[in-house]
Amino acid sequence: MAKIIDGKAIAKEIHGEIADEVRSLSEKYGKVPGLAVVIVGMRKDSQSYVRMKRKACAEVGIKSLDLDLPEDVSEAEVIATVHELNANPDVHGILVQLPLPKHINEENVLSEISIEKDVDGFHPLNIGKLAMKGREPLFMPCTPKGCLELLSRSGISTKGKRSVVVGRSNIVGLPVALLLQKADATVTIVHSRTPDPEKIICEADIVIAAAGQAMMIKGDWLKPGAAVIDVGTNSVDDPSRKTGYRLVGDVDFEEASKVAGWLTPVPGGVGPMTVAMLLKNTLDGAKRKIIQ
Ligand code: NAP
Repeated sequence: MAKIIDGKAIAKEIHGEIADEVRSLSEKYGKVPGLAVVIVGMRKDSQSYVRMKRKACAEVGIKSLDLDLPEDVSEAEVIATVHELNANPDVHGILVQLPLPKHINEENVLSEISIEKDVDGFHPLNIGKLAMKGREPLFMPCTPKGCLELLSRSGISTKGKRSVVVGRSNIVGLPVALLLQKADATVTIVHSRTPDPEKIICEADIVIAAAGQAMMIKGDWLKPGAAVIDVGTNSVDDPSRKTGYRLVGDVDFEEASKVAGWLTPVPGGVGPMTVAMLLKNTLDGAKRKIIQ
């Protein structure tokens, strides 16, 4: 049976480490890290993600600056807000909650965030440095960084390991593949145009599933003993629940748990790590500014 990687417990441990560092920064320098969270409009899912991030900041002592902009705000106004935050010395990280309303070009907004405050790690310069040998990005995207942290804190080495990433999105698949490569893994990316993905996945020592396809990866697709990190978060109908739905990953958990060596649950695996890595990025950004 696979060892279940408890993302909630690991994230809690990281929150504790961050809270200690924030306290010591405050004692030594009289300053605390600051994270600005910009949200546009009233999308329920975005509102709930942002609430969760702001609550996590408060728990570890990071000061969060809340900017709630109306749905009909113009792209120029959002960019002006980003510029103000770039210039604010108390703000060490800027997060613009995605997706933005259709009339705003996300790329135009994200590329205006100073790379020194790009705690989401989505700025093309940070991604570019992640892709280049011998270059270090200032920040790495939170979900991918969380996946690697889950592996390392579970004692799973990536060096020379055959790794398959399922998905190639800008926010998960691509950066997690780049991170694995930086960590000396041998990486293959599988996407929607890849024929017979199971023939590739079954050779992997490490599988990172980020396709957004409920329970697509079956037990017999996996190499026995593989480490499987399931990023997928899909809601499926479940009449037995009060809500009428439940969340499942991209991996068939029941089947995979009989074959894999390590496996993350959904929920309670990668999700909590994304928030923990956002806090860690904010702390690191603040340390670069506060400790000269
Ligand atoms: P996305 O932008 O929709 O990208 C999905 C990727 O999967 C695409 O590259 C797509 O290929 C590929 N794909 C789709 N169907 C496939 C199939 N049948 N076989 C192989 N590859 C397939 O999604 P995302 O934003 O990367 O998110 C992926 C999943 O992770 C979602 O379930 C999302 O909810 C979850 N997520 C979780 C967290 C967290 O914190 N836990 C954070 C972010 C995302 P093409 O490029 O060819 O279209």
